[in-house]
Amino acid sequence: MILIPCPWCGPRNVSEFRYADEAKVRPDPNATTPERWRTYLYMRDNPAGWTTEKWFHRAGCRRYFTLERDTVSNAVRAAEASREV
Ligand SMILES: [Zn+2]
Repeated sequence: MILIPCPWCGPRNVSEFRYADEAKVRPDPNATTPERWRTYLYMRDNPAGWTTEKWFHRAGCRRYFTLERDTVSNAVRAAEASREV
C-alpha cells in the first residue's frame, strides 16, 4: 500500500488520488513557438528516480498538490499545496 500525504487531509491510500502530470513550468501560449507548446502538452520525461509531480485528491478534498516521488521505489519525501486549480 502506498500512502500519499495530502497537504490538507494527511496521509491517505493512493487509491483516493489521481496522477495529474509532471510538475513543469507552463509556457505562455501567446509567446511560445508551436514546437515548444507541443512539447509542453505531449512530451514527458519519465525519469527513473526522484521526480516532481502534480496529483489530485479525487476522493478527498478535491484539490491539486505537488508531490516529490521516487518512481523506482514509490517513496515520497515532500508534498505541498499547488497554486493551480
Ligand atoms: Zn486532500
